Amino acid sequence: MKYAEVQNCIGGAFVSPNAPTLDVYDPSSGAVLSRVPLSSARDVDAAVSAAQAAFPAWSTTPIKERVQVLYRYKALLERNIDELSALVTEENGKIASEARAEVLKSAELTEFACSLPQIVTGEVLEVSRGVECRVERFPVGVVAAITPFNFPNMVPNWSIPNAIALGNCMILKPSELVPLSARRIVELLAEAGLPPGVLQVVHGGREVVEAICDDPGIAAVSFVGSTRVAQIVYRRATSNLKRCLALGGAKNHLIVMPDADREMTATNVVASMSGCAGQRCMAASVMVAVSATDHIIARMAEVASKMVPGKDVGPVISAESKARITRYIDEAVAGGATIVVDGRNAVVKGREDGYYIGPTILDHVTPDMAIAQEEVFGPVLVIVRAKNVEEAIAIENASPYGNAASVFTESGGIAKYVMEHASAGMVGVNVGVPVPREPFSFGGWNDSKFGVGDITGRGSIEFWTQAKKMTTKWNKEAGVNWMS
Ligand code: NAD
Repeated sequence: MKYAEVQNCIGGAFVSPNAPTLDVYDPSSGAVLSRVPLSSARDVDAAVSAAQAAFPAWSTTPIKERVQVLYRYKALLERNIDELSALVTEENGKIASEARAEVLKSAELTEFACSLPQIVTGEVLEVSRGVECRVERFPVGVVAAITPFNFPNMVPNWSIPNAIALGNCMILKPSELVPLSARRIVELLAEAGLPPGVLQVVHGGREVVEAICDDPGIAAVSFVGSTRVAQIVYRRATSNLKRCLALGGAKNHLIVMPDADREMTATNVVASMSGCAGQRCMAASVMVAVSATDHIIARMAEVASKMVPGKDVGPVISAESKARITRYIDEAVAGGATIVVDGRNAVVKGREDGYYIGPTILDHVTPDMAIAQEEVFGPVLVIVRAKNVEEAIAIENASPYGNAASVFTESGGIAKYVMEHASAGMVGVNVGVPVPREPFSFGGWNDSKFGVGDITGRGSIEFWTQAKKMTTKWNKEAGVNWMS
């Protein structure tokens, strides 16, 4: 085992819970990297107590002082980027350039949190002679973030910097598949001056998540993961009267029009479906090819078939994921889909036990096939044919998900039509991965997000704070009116 057994962090101290463990694998080789404890409700309780103890001092520290920690944290993320991205590659499998981009994105998220004092300045107005109304934002209290396997460094940083900048104390529950990056996040925040108890980490699986949803000491829960679990967490947390924002899975549709720029479209669509081995909630999953687009598909096939697993595409997260993705492809082929590029037999020399699948493109898939409807979460793109943009939009709208959608076209009118009619929270025009960058916020629609607000950017401020509305009057001489 390259790394010692993973520990929780409670009140600034790393501790080993008395708990059974799971092996943590390197997806590129199948080797065991470490072991992660499956903590219990007792460990969540201890984390909540530590966060509650830190809350009075942290929440009353002026926000301009709180974000000084985050300025230093951002610099530490940048200074340690080689080591942090290598760790992401080890535990998640993504290739070096993708892991580096992930850590840079964490720095950008932190940069936004540093700017929060300029944004959350409150409001004040004289509403009647001598009577003043003001609104100030207060932290919610002890909050929690539950994160998935696909961005071990970035997704925790979707929630941590904003939540703590706004005065909350937090409990992070990382994915048990990728628990290693969380320790470095905590260590760097401590080095940056974050007081003990402001951020705890409790490792584990379902039991920890359920305890977070149930613990009366936790006021708000952010969740990122599959739709199935997002629904469980949203229902359970809100039934316990907590606020909850739960981001779920995705099935992103890219509509390609015949007038689209061939080279840009082909390279962008392939990059979107194959980047991070297709394990991004923003990945292209269905391409709706409108009328005469064979020339673009032919170029996509050239680009995708040149990609080398192990160099240009990392492994998927687990042997189970690889088997599930392969099963989807096998079933689609058996159901009549044409295989344009086949990544099923990818082997990486010296890494024969890694969970590799090469980029795979299937054409003439029909909207009723499972592979066209369900989240595959691998480097697989299915092409569904449509006669016109209206039919393409109808196919996109029929999906229960609604994270992202894009259109590739040179026509402003068609782009506008798709922007207006796509049933998705994030829409791109000639962009394969339409992630809104700070200060714009990230969040989907429909079964891709449960709850109000977004998880990053300005949209997260409402979630991590509560507004206090204050009305004052000092002029006794004004007499009595309906506000008295
Ligand atoms: P997952 O839902 O399996 O796990 C997410 C978290 O939930 C983990 O911390 C896990 O321990 C916990 N969990 C798993 N099963 C649980 C259960 N039965 N009860 C309570 N908790 C449980 O997701 P994953 O496989 O780690 O991540 C991939 C998924 O995340 C994909 O569906 C992807 O689309 C989605 N995702 C969405 C976004 C977004 O912004 N919408 C971003 C990243 C990932």
